Amino acid sequence: MTENQGYRILVCMKIVVTGATGLLGRAVYRQLKEKSSFMVVGAGFSRSKAPLVTLNLRNNDDLRSFLLEEQPDCIVHCAAERRPDVSEAEPEASEQLNVEVTAHLAEHAQKNGICMIYISTDYVFDGTNPPYYPDSLPNPLNFYGRTKLAGERAVQDTVSDFTILRVPILYGGEQYPLESSISTVAASLNKNRGGRFDDTAIRYPTYTGDVARILEEIILMREAGNSFTGIYHFSGKDALTKYQMALMMAPYLHIDEVCISPDRTAGGSAKRPENSHLDTEKLKKRVNISPTSFSEAIKTGKLLWRNPSLKK
Ligand code: NAP
Repeated sequence: MTENQGYRILVCMKIVVTGATGLLGRAVYRQLKEKSSFMVVGAGFSRSKAPLVTLNLRNNDDLRSFLLEEQPDCIVHCAAERRPDVSEAEPEASEQLNVEVTAHLAEHAQKNGICMIYISTDYVFDGTNPPYYPDSLPNPLNFYGRTKLAGERAVQDTVSDFTILRVPILYGGEQYPLESSISTVAASLNKNRGGRFDDTAIRYPTYTGDVARILEEIILMREAGNSFTGIYHFSGKDALTKYQMALMMAPYLHIDEVCISPDRTAGGSAKRPENSHLDTEKLKKRVNISPTSFSEAIKTGKLLWRNPSLKK
């Protein structure tokens, strides 16, 4: 709200969401656009369609022109290369997107007095000594985790007004069966009518809609003049291996539990933490949102496998 010649003019907060075509960015864009009075501009890349803006974040000139034209008050930076095995195989491309682009956004944010919200990951931790608090010492095991940590540091070292929100494995609103690691379990289970699933790594499946609501709350609090600077953690509550997730999904896919077996040999080319449980107490003191339970997500169809197109 600003004063102008005796009139009070309502000024909406303008928010840019990067990665607005991605798993999380879609939920965030929708939440901010539909449920709040913010002005929201979503930017995507290869999947972008109007009203989203198509922007290659790797092109620094295009990025700068876009930000100068839009003049946002806040950037929610969701775009990233989030697949650990791809990051390992294509380190330069991942470093460019996860670190250099983040650093450019951070520089622009600081220069123009914009707040920056950066989405990070539990993979900044090595998973040997859970739970992890926002001030626990990071020690990423794989290249993806290292780039996300470097992105965090670029934000922290550059922007005065920043929030870093670390989240674990995400699901919800997938556009295709392999879009999240969890819908991948569902798709494989459904296709093979059973299978072997990892029973070594403990994961905390987290619903994208919950993360989007938290980001909305954070922005509303910022809009109301409250500081929200620092690192925060959010996580689903259920501690599950993929094998346990498959067992929970099985009845809904009419698959007999005997067709599902535990795999105790860790897979994937990138090393992954065994249990990088994020402690969420710091966030809970500021934002009142309880996470969707995994069983509720399965029952209520928040997972893609409830979509008939998957049941082939
Ligand atoms: P995602 O589904 O893979 O989406 C990635 C987004 O980045 C897409 O919108 C993609 O656009 C965009 N992008 C890629 N290259 C780009 C470029 N050159 N220029 C502009 N945009 C580009 O990722 P996500 O799962 O939503 O992840 C969101 C955030 O959460 C990331 O920071 C990730 O590290 C973090 N996170 C994710 C998980 C998870 O389980 N998914 C877990 C923990 C943390 P197009 O598709 O249009 O090309």
